[in-house]
Amino acid sequence: MPMSPRDQEVDAVFSPSQMPCAECGESVVRVAVHSHACDPSRRLDFQMLAMRRGVLAFDSELREYLSGKEGRFETWLAAREVRRSA
Ligand SMILES: [Zn+2]
Repeated sequence: MPMSPRDQEVDAVFSPSQMPCAECGESVVRVAVHSHACDPSRRLDFQMLAMRRGVLAFDSELREYLSGKEGRFETWLAAREVRRSA
């Protein structure tokens, strides 16, 4: 079924010619998306940005764990193991 001018207009609005690569975030021409190869450095930056919240929370979560009862025991146990192997 041929598209009416109105359908083509709607299609142009909702189908931009470029789309972000899901792996690296680079804007890729839609028709060339299958031939796109991610830049490893850009891909790493993009994925680190996506995980930033978890990475930022890690330090405080670790500090909180280590100051708790279980964490203090694990710290003591690890220090003991290090002393034994030295
Ligand atoms: Zn990519």
